[in-house]
Amino acid sequence: MKKKYDLKISYPLNFAERLVSWFETNKRALPWRETKDPYKIWLSEIILQQTKVSQGLPYYLSFVEKYPTVSSLAAASEEEVLRMWQGLGYYSRARNMHFAAKYIRDECEGKFPTTYEEIIKLKGVGSYTAAAISSIAFNEKKPVVDGNVLRVFSRIFGVEENVATNTGKNIIYEITNALISEEKPGAYNEAVMEMGATCCTPKQPNCFNCIFSEECFTRKNGWQERLPVNKKEVKKKTLYLNYLVFNESDSVYVKKTSLGNIWKGLFDFFVLERDFIYSKKEEVVSELEHLGIEILENQISGGEKVYRHLLSHREINAKFFVVDLDRSKIFKKFAKENSLSLITISKLQDIPKPILIHNYIDEYF
Ligand code: SF4
Repeated sequence: MKKKYDLKISYPLNFAERLVSWFETNKRALPWRETKDPYKIWLSEIILQQTKVSQGLPYYLSFVEKYPTVSSLAAASEEEVLRMWQGLGYYSRARNMHFAAKYIRDECEGKFPTTYEEIIKLKGVGSYTAAAISSIAFNEKKPVVDGNVLRVFSRIFGVEENVATNTGKNIIYEITNALISEEKPGAYNEAVMEMGATCCTPKQPNCFNCIFSEECFTRKNGWQERLPVNKKEVKKKTLYLNYLVFNESDSVYVKKTSLGNIWKGLFDFFVLERDFIYSKKEEVVSELEHLGIEILENQISGGEKVYRHLLSHREINAKFFVVDLDRSKIFKKFAKENSLSLITISKLQDIPKPILIHNYIDEYF
């Protein structure tokens, strides 16, 4: 195949064989590497998206224990799955995974699809995940490209193109597609990722012990700090959330979150999203007055602490004010109009909720 980009070094001899052999001797023992079950490989791949192995591992073990088959995952309720996922973030992964499990049960006779083309049709599965599952579980020759793969290849071959762009990604895809092992494409894919995770790390790569140190362009030129070029323009939006925790004796009002896709399906409290967070209780009183609810300042507590929470594209600043209610009819009407449900404080632990809410509840109740 004609290369569209001039690499600074030619393909090393026996590249795939050397890489796979290194992997087989040096790989970390991880439970999803002990199986060829596509369901379990899929679980691990979804859990490990945007998540470190050390953080994802206990979730993987809990999911496999509670849902050992795709049918058992399909039979669970979405709430239960989200509850299990709590703390991992990016909850759309859990919702899509649950949706896909039901699709496999209903449309594929409960059998996990066996080819890249079928796997990529599953909700929440992109080209990377489909390539990983089909190569590892079914030996299909599909190269994966993730952050580790981009770094390893851009360093070995001296690719200076920005790997955050499609052009940069395509160059790396072309390299790995040309080099992928015929016999063991799954092990090859895992090997490149393992090399990026354990040897050719973002900071201070272990060039001294690297099997490609003889050939590597970056090692020969001391470009470890320079490659890969990875410039993402991420502007974080700041959200200011004023949570009002309406409290009636031993119960509080909760609702399915209104904060768009990030926390869809999870529960939080009534929230006022404004351009700032309140510093005084009188601001809460006046907001409530606008909403038709009369409250005295001494019915409000909390609001001293600002909770900060970082998401990939947003920074959240939140305050929680507890509003002690009398059992007025006006509030019941307000609760109904705003889809608020009353639950006992002891039940708060059981509902699926964003980690921000979880941390607040842990501290306050
Ligand atoms: S020699 Fe160094 S920079 Fe090159 S691939 Fe190995 S660890 Fe990465």
